[in-house]
Amino acid sequence: MKTLLNYIGGELCPPISGNYLDNYEPATGKVYGALPDSDAEDVERAVRAALSARNAWSGSEPAFRFQKLNAIAAKIRENLSELAGAEARDSGKPLHMATSVDIPRAAANFEFFATAALHFASESHPMGQTAVNYTLRQPVGIAGCISPWNLPLYLFTWKIAPALAAGNCVVAKPSELTPQTAFMLSEICREAELPPGVLNIVHGLGSKVGAAIVRHPAVPCISFTGGTATGAEIARVAAPMFKKLSLELGGKNPNIVFADCDYPNALETTLRSSFNNQGQICLCGSRVLIEKSLYPRFRDELVALTQSLQQGDPQLPETRQGAVVSREHQEKILRYIALAQEEGGTVLCGGEAFRPEGRCAEGWFVAPTIIEGLPQACRTNREEIFGPVITLQPFESEAEALAIANDTPYGLAAMVWTSDLSRAHRLAAELQAGIVWINCWMLRDLRTPFGGMKHSGVGREGGVEALRFFTEPKNVCVKY
Ligand code: NDP
Repeated sequence: MKTLLNYIGGELCPPISGNYLDNYEPATGKVYGALPDSDAEDVERAVRAALSARNAWSGSEPAFRFQKLNAIAAKIRENLSELAGAEARDSGKPLHMATSVDIPRAAANFEFFATAALHFASESHPMGQTAVNYTLRQPVGIAGCISPWNLPLYLFTWKIAPALAAGNCVVAKPSELTPQTAFMLSEICREAELPPGVLNIVHGLGSKVGAAIVRHPAVPCISFTGGTATGAEIARVAAPMFKKLSLELGGKNPNIVFADCDYPNALETTLRSSFNNQGQICLCGSRVLIEKSLYPRFRDELVALTQSLQQGDPQLPETRQGAVVSREHQEKILRYIALAQEEGGTVLCGGEAFRPEGRCAEGWFVAPTIIEGLPQACRTNREEIFGPVITLQPFESEAEALAIANDTPYGLAAMVWTSDLSRAHRLAAELQAGIVWINCWMLRDLRTPFGGMKHSGVGREGGVEALRFFTEPKNVCVKY
C-alpha cells in the first residue's frame, strides 16, 4: 500500500494531524493506498512556503520559468506510461485514454505555458503628444488551484502551469478521489529542481483543504474546476474578500445532428462524445438532438455501436469503457437512470450496473446507457448526470433544435453536425455555450479562451486569457 505525502516548501511531508484517507481503486472497489487527510494547518504551512518563495519566483526572468516548466513537461513525457497506469488505476478510466489523452495533455499544458511565459506582452497607449500609458501585468502573488477527479493531471496542470508561468507561487489541491498523479507530479517537480515553495500540493477533502485555500487571506486568486454547487459555495466565500475567481463548472451539453451531416463522422464522434471516460468529461454531449428524418437510423446504429464498446478492466489496452470514479457516483448515476424511467423514458441499452468477471467483479461500473422518449423539460434532461448516460430527442427544424439546445441552466459546450455552412455559422452565434464544435469534438487550440456561460461558470482559461487572469493589471500614466 502506497502512502502519499503533501508537497510543501519543496519537501514531501506528512499531514500535521497524522491522519490519512483511504485511496480506492474504482475498478476493484478496494483500498490500495492512503493519502493525507490534511486540514487548515497544512494549508497555512503551504501558504507560508509560497510566501517565502514568491519574490524570487515572480522576479525571475521569464527564461528561467520557461526552463523549469519545460523540464517538468519533459519529465512527464519520460514517465508517460507510469503516470498513465497510475491515473487509470486511480480514476477507473481506460489505460488507453490515460495514455493517449490525459498524460500527453498534461505535458502539453506545461509546454504551452512555458513558451507563453516567454511571449507574454503588455499594452501601451500613447495619448498624442501628452503622455503614454502602459499596463504593468504583475503576478497576483499566490494562486489557489482546485481541481476535480475526472481528468486528474490534465485539469490540475491546466491551472498550475499558467499560474506559475505568470510568476505566481501556487497552493494546489487535487481531488481526494484521484490523488496519485498529483503526488507523482510533486516528485517530478523535485527532480526538475523547481525552487522550493513555488508549487505546493496539499491533499485532502474539499471541505477542509479546499475551503481553507479559498478563505485564506493571503491567496487573492482562486482557479476552480468542479461542480456548479461547489462553485457557488466558493463564490459565496471568496466574493466578500474580493478575490479573483475563475470557475469552470458543470454542463448539460447538446449534440445536434442534422440530416445533411457527414453521417459516419457524426455517428462515430457521437459515440466518443457521449461515452469517453464513461461520460465523465464536462464537455461530453449528454443530450443528442437528431433531425426527425434521420432519427431512427441514427438511433439504431448508435445503440448498436454503444453495445459493442469494450467494457471492463481499465488496465487492459483494449478496454474503452472503464469504471466510474466511486461507489457514490455509481449510485448517483443509477438513481438518474431510474428517474429517467419514472419520467417516462425508454432505456434502449445499458440502464444498469455492469459486473465484469475476474479482478474487477466488485468494481463500480455502469453500462453505457441510451434513453429516448423524454421531453426537454424533465429533470433527466436538465440536471448534470456526469456519467455514461445520454438521452436522444428528435427535432423537426433548426429553430426547434436551437430552442431545445439552449433550454438548460448550463452553457459549457455544444456540437453541431451539418454540411450547411450558413446554418453552422448561424447556430454557432446563437448557441449559449462557451465552446461550439462544428463537425468535430474535443478539438481545441490551447491559445483560445476556454470556459462556460450561465451556470457553467465565469472566467476564461487558456492562452493569453489564462496568463492575464493570474496577473493584476496596473496602469501607469507618464506625462511627457
Ligand atoms: P466537486 O465540485 O465536488 O469537486 C471539485 C474539487 O473541489 C475537488 O477537489 C473537491 O474536493 C473540491 N471541493 C469540494 N468542496 C469544496 C469547497 N467547499 N471549497 C473548496 N474546494 C472544494 O466536483 P467533482 O470533483 O465531483 O467534479 C465533477 C464536476 O466537475 C462536474 O460537475 C463537472 O462538470 C465539473 N467539471 C467541469 C469542467 C469545466 O471545465 N467546466 C471540467 C471538468 C469537470 P473533494 O474531492 O474532496 O470533494
